[in-house]
Amino acid sequence: MSDYKLGLEYALLQDKNDELKTYRNQFHIPKNKQGSDWIYMTGNSLGLQPKETKSYVNQELEDWKNLGVEGHFEAKNPWLRYHEFLTESMAKVVGAKPIEVIVMNTLTANLHFMMVSFYKPTKTRYKILIESDAFPSDKYAVESQLRHHGYDDKDGLILWKPRKGEELLNYEDLETILEEQGDEIALIMIGGVNYYTGQFFDLKRITNLGHKHGCNVGFDCAHGAGNVPLNLHDSGADFAVWCTYKYLNSGPGSLGGCFVHERHANRKDLNRFTGWWSHNKQTRFKMRDEFDQMPGAEGWQLSNPPILSMAAIKASLDMFHEVGMEKLIAKSRKLTGYFEFLLKQLGEDTIKIITPSNLKERGCQLSIQVKNADKALHNKLTEAGIISDWREPDVIRCAPVPLYNSFEEVFRLVEKLKKILASP
Ligand SMILES: *Cc1c(COP(=O)(O)O)cnc(C)c1O
Repeated sequence: MSDYKLGLEYALLQDKNDELKTYRNQFHIPKNKQGSDWIYMTGNSLGLQPKETKSYVNQELEDWKNLGVEGHFEAKNPWLRYHEFLTESMAKVVGAKPIEVIVMNTLTANLHFMMVSFYKPTKTRYKILIESDAFPSDKYAVESQLRHHGYDDKDGLILWKPRKGEELLNYEDLETILEEQGDEIALIMIGGVNYYTGQFFDLKRITNLGHKHGCNVGFDCAHGAGNVPLNLHDSGADFAVWCTYKYLNSGPGSLGGCFVHERHANRKDLNRFTGWWSHNKQTRFKMRDEFDQMPGAEGWQLSNPPILSMAAIKASLDMFHEVGMEKLIAKSRKLTGYFEFLLKQLGEDTIKIITPSNLKERGCQLSIQVKNADKALHNKLTEAGIISDWREPDVIRCAPVPLYNSFEEVFRLVEKLKKILASP
């Protein structure tokens, strides 16, 4: 991995030899006022639009226009089963079996629905463990679950924190927490890839640890889906949730994904909230039957889903299916490794990369701490045509996405950063 070279020539050669180079062309790349492409490094926040998305959505608009309610059965992609067209490719993306995966609702809503089933507090075991720098929505969600069940959200929330002066989380510290308080913890809920540091956790290790201490274990994979090899099935996690508008390029506020491990597929004892879409498909429309739970993750659905949003997800998943996660991850590691290599040339006095350097502990994102920087730096980057994400007090998050970002862009980004830092 250390055979990276300096200079634009090298970047251009990597792009030329890139097996996935044609995919960039399949996306709309936003442009600045002068008409040149933005260097878009925020696919971890909102993925870009595939050019095909419009025709997928149009297909459903046309079928609705021409068929009305008959579209549920007669549409080219019948709406009644539309979610099934997504299941297999989504399962591949997250490393799960089809029965374990469903596209439904939105991320935080799914997190709550999963907690209805997998957060089952008792008098002595009621606490929830999360990472200290969890995404705010996750923290608010688990706090509100604690309150909902009548517990104090300060007493009930346990934080897995980095050591003093460090940013990344350490598994030994998690072990210590579990040894000391494991029998009070009902649920461990961790962001599979931490949104701030980019640290990709060992899901299996955390799950095994949690299960050993009798805790249920779930993951928020918003920053993992479409980015890293999640292997959700093998991890053994009880559940996972994610969104599809970040690395999965399905558009703002689009539907989320949800994983429930196969071993829970037929459990009738699990508490859950249900609706007509959790009911057996064969008899759903008889409407008068006793509730008949569908097996697998599908059985957690509530409503008939928004087809237009699912069409955008299908457009994206068809592309992921064609490429395959393996090729995607291979390019991603090379591209982000190159980014890291160039950033390191700026010197440790100038920048510090918070994200782990171990390829197995990160995805495409690098979180870069810039010494003595403030938001002005971010503004200058934006003026220079680089769309990145700023986190107070001094961190820039950049995510070169293997489907549409290039080695040349990474090269130009670092050149521009160098220039900006040299002229304060
Ligand atoms: C993006 C993100 C969310 C957003 O939740 P929504 O319900 O989709 O608005 C939640 N959690 C994490 C970890 C995220 O990265």
